Amino acid sequence: MSAQVIVAGGGPVGLLTAALLDAAGVRVEVFERNEGPSEHSKATTMHPRTLEVLATVETAGGRRLADVLVDHGTPRPSAHFAVLPDRLDYSGLDTPFPIVLLIPQADTERFLADHLRWRGVPVHYGQAVQGWEEVDDGLRVRAGDRDHTAGYLVGADGAHSRVRKLSSIAFPGREPTAVGFVADVDLANPPVAAGQLWHHDTGFVSTVPMPGGKWRVFGTEVGDTGLTAEEVRQRQSEPFGLEELRAALRRIAGTDFGLRAAPWISRASDSTRRATRYRSGRVLLAGDAAHVHLPAGGQGLNVGLQDATNLAWKLAAEIHGWAPAHLIDGAGSYEHERQHVAEQLMANTLAQGALMHTFTAGGQALRDLVSGLIGRGGDTAEELAGSLSGLSVSYPQPEGTHPLVGTRAPDLPLADGGTLHRALRHDRYLLVDFTPEGRFAELGSARVEVRAAPSPSGTWSTLCAVLVRPDGYLAHATPSADPLGLADALAQWTTADGATVSVA
Ligand SMILES: Cc1cc2nc3c(=O)[nH]c(=O)nc-3n(C[C@H](O)[C@H](O)[C@H](O)COP(=O)(O)OP(=O)(O)OC[C@H]3O[C@@H](n4cnc5c(N)ncnc54)[C@H](O)[C@@H]3O)c2cc1C
Repeated sequence: MSAQVIVAGGGPVGLLTAALLDAAGVRVEVFERNEGPSEHSKATTMHPRTLEVLATVETAGGRRLADVLVDHGTPRPSAHFAVLPDRLDYSGLDTPFPIVLLIPQADTERFLADHLRWRGVPVHYGQAVQGWEEVDDGLRVRAGDRDHTAGYLVGADGAHSRVRKLSSIAFPGREPTAVGFVADVDLANPPVAAGQLWHHDTGFVSTVPMPGGKWRVFGTEVGDTGLTAEEVRQRQSEPFGLEELRAALRRIAGTDFGLRAAPWISRASDSTRRATRYRSGRVLLAGDAAHVHLPAGGQGLNVGLQDATNLAWKLAAEIHGWAPAHLIDGAGSYEHERQHVAEQLMANTLAQGALMHTFTAGGQALRDLVSGLIGRGGDTAEELAGSLSGLSVSYPQPEGTHPLVGTRAPDLPLADGGTLHRALRHDRYLLVDFTPEGRFAELGSARVEVRAAPSPSGTWSTLCAVLVRPDGYLAHATPSADPLGLADALAQWTTADGATVSVA
């Protein structure tokens, strides 16, 4: 078999999926249709939870990927919701990365591709996945002009996913009603700072300074809202170049800000869809292949990268033979957990779209109201910051388990001076032992790394130990110092022989 997993699509989600599978000891190869890495900046916003995950990946020189990206991008202390003027303050969030990192998607992809090259993971450019057929113990995948065998295929091939279509996985949802523009531009007379302009009669435009002196401008004209799906498709098929952008900016804002050049111009709709299945036998979907929505609040990339994170360790566990059934197709499966998150994502972006695309006096009053609620802080701001940052995303909790199960583990200090997040490995659980006498030290195995930690404070103060999944979510939490009870819990998260399976 040429690879244990073939990933279709060398966008950010495909590249991270490959990086995490590799980190979990899986032989993986990526096939990308384009001749080389993308140069389009597309997503520019990286949220804290994404950076936390990237901090688990060790790259060249012993550095973590998150640190490489943070050094390269521009950190901002706050995020926007629906382009409202009052922003969500991230500075007080309980994370090592209480920031929004502005970094063009092309740079994120480049760093991921560099990492894979350093790890020796093949990324084959100019070789589209055409199709596949089932063979005895896997798949024969046609990519470029050759056949390759693999145990599994991950379709990270974007919104128009061929893998999704060939798997006959339906992609239902809401038809688009609006179309906006997004561009990276050079401006001779840029605004003094990031900002947004709303005009009831014309539309809105938002301007954001980008690393390297460019500006991201995006907006929607009033006439491009309230459309039928057919009208949206028609608008998207019309030419949209520098002069059309200039005209749109002048119509909305009364100025084109001295628009000189636009290295990248695109149009985006609010089409909102989710794949009915994320898995069909040996084929899985992730990222835009599994869900699309209005690009609002910078979430598509981030949620896609979290798909990759949830998928990789479970698929690796399945390949290595230690995944219990509930991780493969039960309540703890990739599909079950991530579809739940996609539902929240779609509701969130539909709500943002409703705020962004209403140009009546009532719409303005609603925006002012929600913006004011955000500006005052408190529950609304906290809840929105939790969901946009990714930090409050949690997974459904099995009945009868501790209330913390399914929630994200914070980056607690460990006794040896390290921290919880950086101790996570994609091929094993982390058992954090809070007992001063190290009561759980004997429970270590090939699949469970035990690390001692000082007794935590706050809601965690009653706990004696937590079992953390490779993706950083709690599998088990216990206030009991009895190792036997915890051994029972461990048995539910690995197959009986899991403790002795070798990664090699
Ligand atoms: C204008 C715009 C602005 C956005 N802004 C943001 C933002 O600020 N923040 C945010 O989080 N998200 C944003 N998004 C969304 C974000 O860009 C996407 O969610 C993200 O690119 C999804 O990554 P992906 O890897 O799933 O898919 P893609 O990036 O689409 O990558 C899929 C890859 O698969 C390749 N491919 C396709 N078919 C095949 C095949 N048959 N075989 C092999 N390869 C194939 C494609 O060439 C492509 O490289 C924005 C999107 C747009 C369009």
